[in-house]
Amino acid sequence: DGIQRVSIGQQHYQIRLIPIGKHHGTIVVFTDVTEITEAKKQMEILAKTDQLTKLYNRRYFVDYFDQLEQEGVVMLVDIDHFKGVNDQYGHPAGDKVLCELAQCLNDHFSDGVACRYGGEEFAVIIENETLENARNRGEKFRAAFQYRQTDFPCTVSVGLCRYQKEDYSKTMNLVDKLLYQAKNAGRNSVVWEEMAVI
Ligand code: GH3
Ligand code: MG
Ligand code: MG
Repeated sequence: DGIQRVSIGQQHYQIRLIPIGKHHGTIVVFTDVTEITEAKKQMEILAKTDQLTKLYNRRYFVDYFDQLEQEGVVMLVDIDHFKGVNDQYGHPAGDKVLCELAQCLNDHFSDGVACRYGGEEFAVIIENETLENARNRGEKFRAAFQYRQTDFPCTVSVGLCRYQKEDYSKTMNLVDKLLYQAKNAGRNSVVWEEMAVI
């Protein structure tokens, strides 16, 4: 953009060069832009982060999906009878459970991108992962969440499938359908399927 910037220690400066006459040298003006630079960075982080769980938000998830290059899997996770957790223990307890789930997702899928997809619904994309391997990992995650250390016991249902890189809505429709099947089959389970080839 033609504007030069330098960083000295923690400070950021914008530099403007002002020539004095033709041959009398140059005035160099340093403007401290530390605050605005930090604010911008902070904004970029905020724009892709869920404030409660500190996971990525849905906006980032969609952007990430759009630039997938390899094959892989997507998982949709929904807390079972979460309304009951809120009703029984209160809303702050529900918030705590959401953070416990985020922690559990980070522990199990650090090689993927986990996001808070909606209220009590979370989505994970793992690139370069097979459906078969993901089934085992999904099952381990489900059990780990069920048997976690907590004051507010509850479980999750999971839908899992390979994603179709070029088709976000088809992918999310399928994984949502699989999650719905897990709910209908009694919850606290992982339901998976091969992505049907059109
Ligand atoms: P199911 O097993 O079918 O998923 O039942 P459910 O009760 O989990 O599903 P339902 O959609 O009926 O309720 C979801 C609840 O999640 C309702 C809503 O108040 C709660 N919820 C959504 N976002 C938050 C949040 O940020 N904090 C808390 N504490 N609760 C939330
Ligand atoms: Mg639920
Ligand atoms: Mg839900």
